[in-house]
Amino acid sequence: MKTSWNFKKRLFSYLILIFITFSALVLIFQIVREKQFKRSQLENTLDHINDITNNFLQQNKILSTRDFSTLNELIKIFPKPLVRITIIDSSGVVLYDNEINDVTTMENHLGRPEIQKSIHSLFGANIRTSSSTNEVYYYYAKRYTNCFIRAAVVYDKNIINYLKVDRIFIFFILTLFFIMWIVLVFISNKFGKTVDKLKDFIIRLDKGEEIEEKIDFPDNEFGMISRQIINLYNELKTTKDKITFEKEKLNSHLYALNEGVAFFSAKKEKILTNNFFIQFLNIISEKSNISAEKIFETAEFQPILNFVVLHTKSKKIISPDHLPQMDHSIHKNGRYFNIKCIVFPDNGFEIIITDITQSAKRKLIKQQMTSNISHELKTPVAAVMGYLETLKNTPLEKEKQSYFIEKAFSQANRLKELINDIQVLNKIEEADEKFVMGSLILREIIDEALDSLKMRLDENHVLVKCDIDNHIMVEGNRSLLFSVFHNLIDNSIKYAGEKISISISKYDEDQNYYYLSLSDNGSGIPEEHFSRIFERFYRIDSGRSRKTGGTGLGLAIVKNAILLHHGNISARNTKDGGLEFLFTLKKGYSQLAIKY
Ligand code: ADP
Repeated sequence: MKTSWNFKKRLFSYLILIFITFSALVLIFQIVREKQFKRSQLENTLDHINDITNNFLQQNKILSTRDFSTLNELIKIFPKPLVRITIIDSSGVVLYDNEINDVTTMENHLGRPEIQKSIHSLFGANIRTSSSTNEVYYYYAKRYTNCFIRAAVVYDKNIINYLKVDRIFIFFILTLFFIMWIVLVFISNKFGKTVDKLKDFIIRLDKGEEIEEKIDFPDNEFGMISRQIINLYNELKTTKDKITFEKEKLNSHLYALNEGVAFFSAKKEKILTNNFFIQFLNIISEKSNISAEKIFETAEFQPILNFVVLHTKSKKIISPDHLPQMDHSIHKNGRYFNIKCIVFPDNGFEIIITDITQSAKRKLIKQQMTSNISHELKTPVAAVMGYLETLKNTPLEKEKQSYFIEKAFSQANRLKELINDIQVLNKIEEADEKFVMGSLILREIIDEALDSLKMRLDENHVLVKCDIDNHIMVEGNRSLLFSVFHNLIDNSIKYAGEKISISISKYDEDQNYYYLSLSDNGSGIPEEHFSRIFERFYRIDSGRSRKTGGTGLGLAIVKNAILLHHGNISARNTKDGGLEFLFTLKKGYSQLAIKY
Protein backbone atom coordinates (compact mmCIF):
# COMPACT_ATOMS: atom_id res chain seq x y z
CA MET A 1 0.00 0.00 0.00
CA LYS A 2 1.26 3.44 -0.88
CA THR A 3 1.91 5.42 2.26
CA SER A 4 1.71 9.13 1.92
CA TRP A 5 4.72 11.15 2.87
CA ASN A 6 4.64 12.70 6.23
CA PHE A 7 4.90 16.40 6.75
CA LYS A 8 8.61 16.23 7.68
CA LYS A 9 9.59 14.56 4.40
CA ARG A 10 7.42 16.87 2.38
CA LEU A 11 8.75 19.97 4.06
CA PHE A 12 12.29 18.76 3.53
CA SER A 13 11.75 17.97 -0.16
CA TYR A 14 10.12 21.35 -0.83
CA LEU A 15 12.96 23.22 0.82
CA ILE A 16 15.68 21.16 -0.83
CA LEU A 17 14.02 21.57 -4.22
CA ILE A 18 13.90 25.33 -3.76
CA PHE A 19 17.51 25.32 -2.66
CA ILE A 20 18.67 23.09 -5.56
CA THR A 21 16.90 25.31 -8.10
CA PHE A 22 18.36 28.40 -6.53
CA SER A 23 21.89 26.93 -6.39
CA ALA A 24 21.66 25.65 -9.98
CA LEU A 25 20.61 29.07 -11.19
CA VAL A 26 23.43 30.75 -9.27
CA LEU A 27 25.87 28.15 -10.58
CA ILE A 28 24.79 28.55 -14.21
CA PHE A 29 24.83 32.30 -13.89
CA GLN A 30 28.30 32.20 -12.34
CA ILE A 31 29.68 29.78 -14.98
CA VAL A 32 28.36 31.92 -17.82
CA ARG A 33 29.78 35.04 -16.21
CA GLU A 34 33.15 33.41 -15.53
CA LYS A 35 33.41 32.18 -19.10
CA GLN A 36 32.56 35.62 -20.42
CA PHE A 37 35.06 37.18 -18.06
CA LYS A 38 37.88 34.83 -19.15
CA ARG A 39 37.11 35.40 -22.82
CA SER A 40 36.97 39.14 -22.37
CA GLN A 41 40.32 38.99 -20.56
CA LEU A 42 41.86 37.09 -23.49
CA GLU A 43 40.16 39.37 -25.97
CA ASN A 44 41.43 42.39 -24.03
CA THR A 45 45.01 41.16 -24.38
CA LEU A 46 44.51 40.52 -28.09
CA ASP A 47 42.86 43.93 -28.39
CA HIS A 48 45.96 45.54 -26.83
CA ILE A 49 48.19 43.66 -29.23
CA ASN A 50 46.01 44.85 -32.12
CA ASP A 51 46.21 48.44 -30.88
CA ILE A 52 49.99 48.21 -30.41
CA THR A 53 50.34 46.73 -33.90
CA ASN A 54 48.15 49.47 -35.34
CA ASN A 55 50.21 52.15 -33.58
CA PHE A 56 53.35 50.53 -34.89
CA LEU A 57 51.90 50.48 -38.42
CA GLN A 58 50.91 54.14 -38.20
CA GLN A 59 54.14 55.34 -36.72
CA ASN A 60 56.26 53.50 -39.22
CA LYS A 61 53.84 54.29 -42.06
CA ILE A 62 54.09 50.65 -43.01
CA LEU A 63 50.80 50.61 -44.86
CA SER A 64 52.09 53.10 -47.34
CA THR A 65 55.67 51.71 -47.50
CA ARG A 66 54.40 48.15 -47.49
CA ASP A 67 57.50 47.12 -45.57
CA PHE A 68 55.88 44.60 -43.33
CA SER A 69 59.14 42.90 -42.40
CA THR A 70 59.68 45.55 -39.69
CA LEU A 71 56.62 44.13 -37.98
CA ASN A 72 58.53 40.96 -37.16
CA GLU A 73 60.54 42.93 -34.64
CA LEU A 74 57.43 44.00 -32.87
CA ILE A 75 55.99 40.51 -32.83
CA LYS A 76 59.05 39.18 -31.09
CA ILE A 77 58.23 41.26 -28.03
CA PHE A 78 54.67 39.93 -27.81
CA PRO A 79 53.99 37.41 -25.05
CA LYS A 80 54.54 33.71 -25.68
CA PRO A 81 53.15 31.45 -26.99
CA LEU A 82 53.43 33.13 -30.27
CA VAL A 83 50.70 35.37 -31.29
CA ARG A 84 49.74 35.27 -34.92
CA ILE A 85 49.19 38.71 -36.42
CA THR A 86 47.39 39.20 -39.71
CA ILE A 87 46.95 42.56 -41.43
CA ILE A 88 44.07 42.68 -43.88
CA ASP A 89 43.15 45.67 -46.00
CA SER A 90 39.65 47.09 -46.17
CA SER A 91 38.83 44.91 -49.19
CA GLY A 92 39.83 41.69 -47.40
CA VAL A 93 43.22 41.17 -49.03
CA VAL A 94 45.76 39.80 -46.59
CA LEU A 95 48.71 42.20 -46.41
CA TYR A 96 50.70 40.48 -43.72
CA ASP A 97 50.69 37.32 -41.66
CA ASN A 98 53.61 36.43 -39.48
CA GLU A 99 52.90 32.72 -39.84
CA ILE A 100 52.64 32.77 -43.64
CA ASN A 101 55.61 33.62 -45.82
CA ASP A 102 53.71 34.31 -49.02
CA VAL A 103 50.52 36.09 -48.20
CA THR A 104 49.57 36.41 -51.84
CA THR A 105 48.60 32.76 -51.76
CA MET A 106 46.04 33.47 -49.05
CA GLU A 107 42.44 33.86 -50.06
CA ASN A 108 40.40 36.99 -49.42
CA HIS A 109 39.56 37.28 -45.70
CA LEU A 110 36.57 39.61 -45.89
CA GLY A 111 34.22 36.69 -45.41
CA ARG A 112 35.92 35.45 -42.22
CA PRO A 113 33.42 35.55 -39.31
CA GLU A 114 35.65 37.68 -37.04
CA ILE A 115 36.20 40.21 -39.91
CA GLN A 116 32.49 40.30 -40.66
CA LYS A 117 31.73 40.94 -36.98
CA SER A 118 34.32 43.72 -36.76
CA ILE A 119 32.81 45.42 -39.85
CA HIS A 120 29.58 45.74 -37.89
CA SER A 121 30.79 46.26 -34.36
CA LEU A 122 34.49 47.30 -34.48
CA PHE A 123 35.79 43.91 -33.34
CA GLY A 124 34.93 40.27 -33.68
CA ALA A 125 36.14 36.93 -32.34
CA ASN A 126 35.92 33.37 -33.63
CA ILE A 127 37.41 29.97 -32.89
CA ARG A 128 38.08 27.76 -35.88
CA THR A 129 40.69 25.83 -37.80
CA SER A 130 42.90 27.98 -40.00
CA SER A 131 42.79 26.96 -43.66
CA SER A 132 46.33 28.27 -44.05
CA THR A 133 48.01 26.56 -41.07
CA ASN A 134 45.48 23.88 -40.30
CA GLU A 135 45.63 24.76 -36.63
CA VAL A 136 42.75 25.80 -34.42
CA TYR A 137 42.94 29.47 -33.48
CA TYR A 138 41.22 31.93 -31.28
CA TYR A 139 40.89 34.87 -33.66
CA TYR A 140 40.31 38.44 -32.59
CA ALA A 141 39.95 41.04 -35.36
CA LYS A 142 39.60 44.80 -34.99
CA ARG A 143 38.65 47.34 -37.58
CA TYR A 144 40.94 50.41 -37.98
CA THR A 145 40.79 53.38 -40.38
CA ASN A 146 42.13 51.59 -43.42
CA CYS A 147 42.76 48.00 -42.38
CA PHE A 148 41.73 45.15 -40.14
CA ILE A 149 44.28 43.80 -37.69
CA ARG A 150 43.71 40.28 -36.48
CA ALA A 151 45.51 38.78 -33.53
CA ALA A 152 45.15 35.06 -32.96
CA VAL A 153 46.43 32.52 -30.49
CA VAL A 154 46.56 28.80 -31.05
CA TYR A 155 43.52 27.33 -29.37
CA ASP A 156 45.55 24.70 -27.59
CA LYS A 157 45.24 23.05 -24.18
CA ASN A 158 46.68 26.05 -22.37
CA ILE A 159 44.10 28.40 -23.79
CA ILE A 160 41.31 25.92 -23.24
CA ASN A 161 42.39 25.53 -19.62
CA TYR A 162 42.67 29.25 -19.24
CA LEU A 163 39.16 29.73 -20.55
CA LYS A 164 37.80 26.98 -18.27
CA VAL A 165 35.71 28.01 -15.28
CA ASP A 166 37.32 27.91 -11.86
CA ARG A 167 36.43 24.63 -10.09
CA ILE A 168 36.75 26.25 -6.70
CA PHE A 169 33.43 27.99 -7.17
CA ILE A 170 31.64 24.71 -7.92
CA PHE A 171 33.23 23.16 -4.82
CA PHE A 172 32.06 26.13 -2.85
CA ILE A 173 28.50 25.72 -4.09
CA LEU A 174 28.58 21.96 -3.38
CA THR A 175 29.87 22.49 0.16
CA LEU A 176 27.16 25.06 0.69
CA PHE A 177 24.68 22.55 -0.65
CA PHE A 178 25.69 19.91 1.92
CA ILE A 179 25.65 22.40 4.75
CA MET A 180 22.20 23.50 3.64
CA TRP A 181 21.10 19.85 3.45
CA ILE A 182 22.03 19.33 7.09
CA VAL A 183 20.38 22.60 8.10
CA LEU A 184 17.22 21.66 6.19
CA VAL A 185 17.13 18.19 7.77
CA PHE A 186 17.33 19.89 11.16
CA ILE A 187 14.61 22.46 10.32
CA SER A 188 12.22 19.93 8.79
CA ASN A 189 12.80 17.62 11.74
CA LYS A 190 11.95 20.36 14.15
CA PHE A 191 8.77 21.49 12.41
CA GLY A 192 7.90 18.01 11.25
CA LYS A 193 7.91 16.67 14.80
CA THR A 194 5.42 19.31 15.96
CA VAL A 195 3.17 18.77 12.97
CA ASP A 196 3.43 14.98 13.31
CA LYS A 197 2.45 15.22 16.99
CA LEU A 198 -0.52 17.39 16.09
CA LYS A 199 -1.41 15.03 13.25
CA ASP A 200 -1.19 12.01 15.59
CA PHE A 201 -3.39 13.86 18.07
CA ILE A 202 -6.01 14.59 15.42
CA ILE A 203 -5.93 11.00 14.05
CA ARG A 204 -6.43 9.63 17.57
CA LEU A 205 -9.30 12.06 18.09
CA ASP A 206 -10.81 10.98 14.82
CA LYS A 207 -10.65 7.34 15.93
CA GLY A 208 -12.47 8.40 19.07
CA GLU A 209 -9.56 7.55 21.40
CA GLU A 210 -9.55 9.18 24.79
CA ILE A 211 -6.44 11.41 25.14
CA GLU A 212 -5.40 11.98 28.67
CA GLU A 213 -1.62 12.51 28.55
CA LYS A 214 -0.22 16.00 28.02
CA ILE A 215 1.36 16.46 24.60
CA ASP A 216 4.74 18.21 24.70
CA PHE A 217 5.05 20.83 21.96
CA PRO A 218 8.19 22.92 21.28
CA ASP A 219 8.44 26.42 22.64
CA ASN A 220 7.94 28.30 19.38
CA GLU A 221 5.10 29.84 17.39
CA PHE A 222 4.29 26.47 15.92
CA GLY A 223 4.08 24.88 19.34
CA MET A 224 1.97 27.78 20.51
CA ILE A 225 -0.49 27.27 17.64
CA SER A 226 -0.63 23.53 18.40
CA ARG A 227 -1.26 24.16 22.09
CA GLN A 228 -3.93 26.68 21.15
CA ILE A 229 -5.60 24.11 18.86
CA ILE A 230 -5.60 21.54 21.67
CA ASN A 231 -6.98 24.08 24.14
CA LEU A 232 -9.73 24.95 21.68
CA TYR A 233 -10.42 21.24 21.20
CA ASN A 234 -10.65 20.67 24.94
CA GLU A 235 -13.02 23.61 25.35
CA LEU A 236 -15.09 22.28 22.46
CA LYS A 237 -15.15 18.82 24.03
CA THR A 238 -16.28 20.18 27.39
CA THR A 239 -18.99 22.22 25.70
CA LYS A 240 -20.02 19.22 23.59
CA ASP A 241 -20.17 17.00 26.67
CA LYS A 242 -22.27 19.59 28.45
CA ILE A 243 -24.62 19.91 25.49
CA THR A 244 -24.90 16.11 25.20
CA PHE A 245 -25.69 15.90 28.90
CA GLU A 246 -28.29 18.69 28.63
CA LYS A 247 -29.76 17.03 25.56
CA GLU A 248 -30.02 13.71 27.39
CA LYS A 249 -31.72 15.49 30.27
CA LEU A 250 -34.12 17.16 27.88
CA ASN A 251 -34.75 13.83 26.17
CA SER A 252 -35.53 12.01 29.39
CA HIS A 253 -37.71 14.93 30.43
CA LEU A 254 -39.57 14.70 27.12
CA TYR A 255 -40.08 10.99 27.58
CA ALA A 256 -41.33 11.50 31.14
CA LEU A 257 -43.99 13.92 29.95
CA ASN A 258 -47.58 12.94 29.35
CA GLU A 259 -47.73 15.32 26.42
CA GLY A 260 -46.51 14.70 22.89
CA VAL A 261 -43.71 17.17 22.16
CA ALA A 262 -41.82 17.78 18.92
CA PHE A 263 -39.30 20.40 17.84
CA PHE A 264 -38.97 21.31 14.17
CA SER A 265 -36.38 23.35 12.27
CA ALA A 266 -37.29 26.36 10.12
CA LYS A 267 -37.30 23.95 7.16
CA LYS A 268 -39.97 21.89 8.95
CA GLU A 269 -37.53 19.05 9.57
CA LYS A 270 -37.91 17.07 12.78
CA ILE A 271 -35.26 17.81 15.41
CA LEU A 272 -36.62 16.04 18.48
CA THR A 273 -39.83 14.16 19.33
CA ASN A 274 -41.04 12.00 22.17
CA ASN A 275 -43.02 8.75 22.02
CA PHE A 276 -46.35 10.37 22.92
CA PHE A 277 -46.05 12.75 19.98
CA ILE A 278 -45.78 9.89 17.47
CA GLN A 279 -48.53 7.96 19.26
CA PHE A 280 -50.96 10.92 19.27
CA LEU A 281 -50.06 11.85 15.70
CA ASN A 282 -50.92 8.33 14.57
CA ILE A 283 -54.24 8.41 16.42
CA ILE A 284 -55.14 11.76 14.87
CA SER A 285 -53.98 11.00 11.32
CA GLU A 286 -55.52 7.51 11.29
CA LYS A 287 -52.62 6.32 9.12
CA SER A 288 -50.29 3.79 10.64
CA ASN A 289 -46.61 4.51 11.16
CA ILE A 290 -46.79 8.16 10.25
CA SER A 291 -43.49 9.95 10.95
CA ALA A 292 -43.19 13.39 12.58
CA GLU A 293 -42.21 15.09 9.30
CA LYS A 294 -45.51 13.98 7.74
CA ILE A 295 -47.50 15.93 10.33
CA PHE A 296 -48.53 18.60 7.84
CA GLU A 297 -49.90 16.06 5.40
CA THR A 298 -52.64 15.47 7.97
CA ALA A 299 -55.66 17.71 7.38
CA GLU A 300 -56.21 18.25 11.12
CA PHE A 301 -52.86 20.04 11.38
CA GLN A 302 -53.50 22.49 8.54
CA PRO A 303 -54.39 25.38 10.90
CA ILE A 304 -51.03 24.80 12.64
CA LEU A 305 -49.20 24.84 9.30
CA ASN A 306 -50.94 28.07 8.32
CA PHE A 307 -49.94 29.61 11.62
CA VAL A 308 -46.29 28.58 11.20
CA VAL A 309 -46.17 29.83 7.60
CA LEU A 310 -47.78 33.12 8.61
CA HIS A 311 -45.11 33.79 11.21
CA THR A 312 -42.09 32.47 9.36
CA LYS A 313 -42.86 34.04 5.96
CA SER A 314 -43.44 37.52 7.35
CA LYS A 315 -40.29 39.59 7.75
CA LYS A 316 -41.27 40.54 11.27
CA ILE A 317 -38.58 39.72 13.83
CA ILE A 318 -39.80 37.35 16.54
CA SER A 319 -38.88 38.55 20.02
CA PRO A 320 -37.89 35.80 22.50
CA ASP A 321 -40.12 37.52 25.09
CA HIS A 322 -43.22 37.36 22.89
CA LEU A 323 -43.13 34.07 21.04
CA PRO A 324 -46.13 33.60 18.76
CA GLN A 325 -48.36 30.82 20.15
CA MET A 326 -51.57 29.21 19.06
CA ASP A 327 -53.92 26.65 20.55
CA HIS A 328 -56.07 24.38 18.51
CA SER A 329 -58.29 21.47 19.52
CA ILE A 330 -58.90 18.25 17.66
CA HIS A 331 -61.67 15.71 18.40
CA LYS A 332 -60.90 12.39 16.76
CA ASN A 333 -62.02 8.82 17.40
CA GLY A 334 -63.65 9.69 20.69
CA ARG A 335 -60.53 11.40 21.94
CA TYR A 336 -59.89 15.07 22.52
CA PHE A 337 -56.50 16.70 21.86
CA ASN A 338 -55.23 20.17 22.51
CA ILE A 339 -52.50 21.26 20.07
CA LYS A 340 -50.20 24.10 21.02
CA CYS A 341 -47.70 25.60 18.59
CA ILE A 342 -44.89 27.99 19.52
CA VAL A 343 -42.71 29.69 16.90
CA PHE A 344 -39.12 30.58 17.89
CA PRO A 345 -36.97 33.51 16.72
CA ASP A 346 -34.95 31.25 14.39
CA ASN A 347 -38.23 30.26 12.68
CA GLY A 348 -38.02 26.79 14.20
CA PHE A 349 -41.15 25.76 16.10
CA GLU A 350 -42.49 23.42 18.74
CA ILE A 351 -45.72 21.44 18.70
CA ILE A 352 -47.22 20.10 21.91
CA ILE A 353 -50.10 17.62 21.76
CA THR A 354 -52.03 17.08 25.00
CA ASP A 355 -54.57 14.32 25.35
CA ILE A 356 -57.44 16.05 27.14
CA THR A 357 -59.90 13.20 26.61
CA GLN A 358 -60.22 12.48 30.29
CA SER A 359 -60.64 16.06 31.37
CA ALA A 360 -63.01 16.69 28.45
CA LYS A 361 -65.02 13.62 29.37
CA ARG A 362 -64.92 14.57 33.00
CA LYS A 363 -66.23 17.98 32.05
CA LEU A 364 -69.05 16.34 30.11
CA ILE A 365 -69.89 14.00 33.00
CA LYS A 366 -69.76 16.94 35.38
CA GLN A 367 -72.27 18.79 33.23
CA GLN A 368 -74.53 15.73 33.20
CA MET A 369 -74.01 15.27 36.91
CA THR A 370 -74.89 18.86 37.66
CA SER A 371 -78.13 18.62 35.71
CA ASN A 372 -78.91 15.20 37.27
CA ILE A 373 -78.16 16.46 40.75
CA SER A 374 -80.37 19.50 40.38
CA HIS A 375 -83.11 17.25 39.02
CA GLU A 376 -82.68 14.78 41.91
CA LEU A 377 -82.61 17.53 44.50
CA LYS A 378 -85.73 19.15 43.17
CA THR A 379 -88.01 16.23 44.15
CA PRO A 380 -87.27 16.05 47.91
CA VAL A 381 -86.99 19.85 48.15
CA ALA A 382 -90.40 20.22 46.46
CA ALA A 383 -91.83 17.56 48.82
CA VAL A 384 -90.42 19.29 51.93
CA MET A 385 -91.74 22.63 50.66
CA GLY A 386 -95.18 21.03 50.01
CA TYR A 387 -95.42 19.55 53.53
CA LEU A 388 -94.21 22.77 55.16
CA GLU A 389 -96.65 24.86 53.11
CA THR A 390 -99.53 22.63 54.17
CA LEU A 391 -98.44 22.95 57.77
CA LYS A 392 -98.19 26.71 57.45
CA ASN A 393 -101.40 27.38 55.58
CA THR A 394 -103.78 24.70 56.80
CA PRO A 395 -104.97 24.47 60.40
CA LEU A 396 -104.50 20.74 61.19
CA GLU A 397 -105.09 18.50 64.15
CA LYS A 398 -102.04 17.57 66.16
CA GLU A 399 -101.98 14.08 64.78
CA LYS A 400 -102.02 15.29 61.14
CA GLN A 401 -99.40 17.90 61.93
CA SER A 402 -96.96 15.31 63.26
CA TYR A 403 -97.69 13.19 60.17
CA PHE A 404 -96.65 16.03 57.86
CA ILE A 405 -93.63 16.87 60.01
CA GLU A 406 -92.62 13.19 59.87
CA LYS A 407 -92.95 13.22 56.06
CA ALA A 408 -90.95 16.46 55.72
CA PHE A 409 -88.29 15.03 58.01
CA SER A 410 -87.96 11.86 55.92
CA GLN A 411 -87.63 13.93 52.71
CA ALA A 412 -85.00 16.10 54.39
CA ASN A 413 -83.19 12.91 55.36
CA ARG A 414 -83.30 11.80 51.74
CA LEU A 415 -81.81 15.14 50.76
CA LYS A 416 -79.01 14.65 53.30
CA GLU A 417 -78.27 11.16 51.97
CA LEU A 418 -78.24 12.43 48.40
CA ILE A 419 -75.81 15.21 49.26
CA ASN A 420 -73.65 12.74 51.21
CA ASP A 421 -73.46 10.37 48.24
CA ILE A 422 -72.64 13.19 45.83
CA GLN A 423 -69.89 14.32 48.16
CA VAL A 424 -68.35 10.85 48.38
CA LEU A 425 -68.44 10.43 44.60
CA ASN A 426 -66.87 13.84 44.02
CA LYS A 427 -64.18 13.07 46.51
CA ILE A 428 -63.35 9.76 44.83
CA GLU A 429 -63.21 11.26 41.37
CA GLU A 430 -61.34 14.45 42.01
CA ALA A 431 -58.97 13.92 44.83
CA ASP A 432 -58.03 10.28 45.02
CA GLU A 433 -54.78 11.20 46.77
CA LYS A 434 -56.83 12.52 49.69
CA PHE A 435 -57.68 8.98 50.72
CA VAL A 436 -55.20 7.50 53.15
CA MET A 437 -54.42 3.93 52.14
CA GLY A 438 -53.18 1.19 54.40
CA SER A 439 -53.36 -2.52 55.19
CA LEU A 440 -56.75 -3.33 56.68
CA ILE A 441 -58.38 -6.45 58.10
CA LEU A 442 -61.24 -6.99 55.68
CA ARG A 443 -63.45 -8.82 58.15
CA GLU A 444 -63.43 -5.81 60.50
CA ILE A 445 -64.77 -3.51 57.76
CA ILE A 446 -67.51 -5.99 56.78
CA ASP A 447 -68.54 -6.33 60.44
CA GLU A 448 -68.68 -2.55 60.80
CA ALA A 449 -70.99 -2.32 57.78
CA LEU A 450 -73.18 -5.14 59.12
CA ASP A 451 -73.29 -3.41 62.52
CA SER A 452 -74.43 -0.13 61.01
CA LEU A 453 -77.24 -1.96 59.19
CA LYS A 454 -78.08 -4.35 62.06
CA MET A 455 -81.46 -2.88 62.79
CA ARG A 456 -82.66 -3.09 59.21
CA LEU A 457 -81.17 -6.55 58.74
CA ASP A 458 -83.12 -7.73 61.76
CA GLU A 459 -86.29 -5.95 60.70
CA ASN A 460 -86.18 -7.64 57.31
CA HIS A 461 -85.07 -11.02 58.72
CA VAL A 462 -82.00 -11.04 56.54
CA LEU A 463 -79.47 -13.75 57.18
CA VAL A 464 -75.85 -12.87 56.51
CA LYS A 465 -73.24 -15.56 55.85
CA CYS A 466 -69.69 -14.21 55.80
CA ASP A 467 -66.75 -16.57 55.01
CA ILE A 468 -64.03 -13.95 55.25
CA ASP A 469 -61.31 -14.96 57.74
CA ASN A 470 -59.81 -12.53 60.17
CA HIS A 471 -56.35 -12.84 58.69
CA ILE A 472 -57.32 -11.46 55.26
CA MET A 473 -55.73 -8.09 54.82
CA VAL A 474 -56.48 -5.71 52.00
CA GLU A 475 -54.79 -2.54 50.84
CA GLY A 476 -57.27 0.28 50.99
CA ASN A 477 -59.07 3.16 52.59
CA ARG A 478 -61.28 2.23 55.55
CA SER A 479 -64.18 4.61 54.93
CA LEU A 480 -64.37 3.83 51.19
CA LEU A 481 -64.34 0.06 51.74
CA PHE A 482 -66.97 0.56 54.43
CA SER A 483 -69.06 2.44 51.81
CA VAL A 484 -68.63 -0.45 49.34
CA PHE A 485 -69.97 -3.10 51.74
CA HIS A 486 -72.55 -0.77 53.28
CA ASN A 487 -74.01 0.08 49.86
CA LEU A 488 -74.03 -3.51 48.57
CA ILE A 489 -75.67 -4.95 51.76
CA ASP A 490 -78.06 -2.00 51.92
CA ASN A 491 -79.11 -2.65 48.28
CA SER A 492 -79.78 -6.31 49.05
CA ILE A 493 -81.97 -5.27 52.01
CA LYS A 494 -83.76 -2.71 49.83
CA TYR A 495 -84.28 -4.67 46.63
CA ALA A 496 -83.95 -8.39 47.34
CA GLY A 497 -86.97 -8.51 49.64
CA GLU A 498 -87.62 -9.93 53.11
CA LYS A 499 -86.24 -13.13 54.60
CA ILE A 500 -83.44 -13.32 52.21
CA SER A 501 -79.86 -14.31 52.86
CA ILE A 502 -76.67 -12.52 51.90
CA SER A 503 -73.40 -14.36 51.49
CA ILE A 504 -69.97 -12.80 51.40
CA SER A 505 -66.95 -14.93 50.44
CA LYS A 506 -63.43 -15.01 49.02
CA TYR A 507 -63.64 -17.39 46.09
CA ASP A 508 -60.06 -17.05 44.81
CA GLU A 509 -56.77 -15.21 45.19
CA ASP A 510 -53.60 -14.64 43.20
CA GLN A 511 -50.22 -13.02 43.87
CA ASN A 512 -51.71 -9.56 44.30
CA TYR A 513 -55.47 -9.81 44.57
CA TYR A 514 -58.34 -11.35 46.51
CA TYR A 515 -61.36 -12.32 44.41
CA LEU A 516 -64.50 -11.63 46.44
CA SER A 517 -68.20 -12.27 45.98
CA LEU A 518 -71.28 -10.66 47.62
CA SER A 519 -74.61 -12.15 46.65
CA ASP A 520 -78.19 -12.33 47.83
CA ASN A 521 -80.97 -14.74 46.97
CA GLY A 522 -83.47 -12.06 46.00
CA SER A 523 -85.00 -11.55 42.59
CA GLY A 524 -81.90 -10.11 40.78
CA ILE A 525 -82.26 -7.64 37.96
CA PRO A 526 -83.27 -8.04 34.29
CA GLU A 527 -80.25 -8.73 31.97
CA GLU A 528 -80.63 -5.54 29.89
CA HIS A 529 -79.82 -3.34 32.88
CA PHE A 530 -76.44 -4.86 33.69
CA SER A 531 -74.56 -2.56 31.36
CA ARG A 532 -75.89 0.53 33.13
CA ILE A 533 -76.41 -0.24 36.80
CA PHE A 534 -73.04 1.32 37.78
CA GLU A 535 -73.96 4.65 36.14
CA ARG A 536 -74.78 7.60 38.33
CA PHE A 537 -78.51 8.06 39.06
CA TYR A 538 -79.39 4.93 37.14
CA ARG A 539 -82.32 3.10 38.70
CA ILE A 540 -84.26 0.14 37.41
CA ASP A 541 -87.52 1.06 38.99
CA SER A 542 -87.14 4.67 39.99
CA GLY A 543 -90.46 4.79 41.83
CA ARG A 544 -89.53 1.85 44.02
CA SER A 545 -85.99 3.01 44.42
CA ARG A 546 -87.11 6.45 45.67
CA LYS A 547 -89.54 4.85 47.97
CA THR A 548 -86.77 2.76 49.47
CA GLY A 549 -84.61 5.85 49.87
CA GLY A 550 -82.25 5.07 46.98
CA THR A 551 -80.36 7.92 45.42
CA GLY A 552 -79.23 6.04 42.29
CA LEU A 553 -75.64 6.73 43.32
CA GLY A 554 -74.94 3.66 45.48
CA LEU A 555 -73.44 1.39 42.81
CA ALA A 556 -71.60 4.33 41.18
CA ILE A 557 -69.89 4.91 44.52
CA VAL A 558 -69.11 1.18 44.82
CA LYS A 559 -67.59 0.98 41.33
CA ASN A 560 -65.52 4.15 41.70
CA ALA A 561 -64.26 3.09 45.11
CA ILE A 562 -63.18 -0.34 43.76
CA LEU A 563 -61.47 1.30 40.76
CA LEU A 564 -59.65 3.68 43.08
CA HIS A 565 -58.31 0.60 44.86
CA HIS A 566 -57.04 -0.69 41.47
CA GLY A 567 -59.57 -3.50 41.51
CA ASN A 568 -62.58 -4.18 39.30
CA ILE A 569 -66.21 -5.12 39.78
CA SER A 570 -68.99 -6.79 37.77
CA ALA A 571 -72.52 -8.02 38.52
CA ARG A 572 -74.54 -11.04 37.45
CA ASN A 573 -77.66 -12.90 38.41
CA THR A 574 -77.11 -16.12 40.34
CA LYS A 575 -78.58 -19.45 39.26
CA ASP A 576 -81.16 -19.13 42.02
CA GLY A 577 -82.24 -15.69 40.79
CA GLY A 578 -80.44 -13.42 43.24
CA LEU A 579 -77.87 -10.73 42.38
CA GLU A 580 -74.14 -11.35 42.77
CA PHE A 581 -71.32 -8.83 42.72
CA LEU A 582 -67.83 -10.15 41.89
CA PHE A 583 -64.96 -7.82 42.73
CA THR A 584 -61.22 -7.77 43.45
CA LEU A 585 -59.26 -6.05 46.18
CA LYS A 586 -55.50 -5.65 46.43
CA LYS A 587 -53.73 -7.67 49.09
CA GLY A 588 -52.40 -5.77 52.07
CA TYR A 589 -48.64 -5.40 52.76
CA SER A 590 -48.37 -7.84 55.63
CA GLN A 591 -50.33 -10.36 53.61
CA LEU A 592 -47.86 -10.04 50.77
CA ALA A 593 -44.97 -10.26 53.17
CA ILE A 594 -46.30 -13.45 54.80
CA LYS A 595 -46.99 -15.19 51.50
CA TYR A 596 -44.04 -13.99 49.41
P1 ADP B 1 -79.99 3.30 44.61
O1 ADP B 1 -79.22 4.26 45.38
O2 ADP B 1 -81.20 3.83 44.03
O3 ADP B 1 -80.21 2.00 45.33
P2 ADP B 1 -77.97 1.96 43.19
O4 ADP B 1 -76.96 2.55 42.27
O5 ADP B 1 -77.44 1.45 44.48
O6 ADP B 1 -79.09 2.98 43.34
O7 ADP B 1 -78.70 0.76 42.47
C1 ADP B 1 -79.11 0.90 41.14
C2 ADP B 1 -80.26 0.00 40.86
O8 ADP B 1 -79.86 -1.37 40.88
C3 ADP B 1 -81.37 0.08 41.85
O9 ADP B 1 -82.28 1.02 41.45
C4 ADP B 1 -81.93 -1.30 41.92
O10 ADP B 1 -83.04 -1.40 41.05
C5 ADP B 1 -80.84 -2.21 41.40
N1 ADP B 1 -80.27 -3.03 42.47
C6 ADP B 1 -79.20 -2.76 43.21
N2 ADP B 1 -78.91 -3.75 44.08
C7 ADP B 1 -79.82 -4.71 43.86
C8 ADP B 1 -80.07 -5.99 44.43
N3 ADP B 1 -79.30 -6.49 45.39
N4 ADP B 1 -81.13 -6.70 43.95
C9 ADP B 1 -81.91 -6.21 42.96
N5 ADP B 1 -81.74 -5.03 42.42
C10 ADP B 1 -80.71 -4.25 42.84
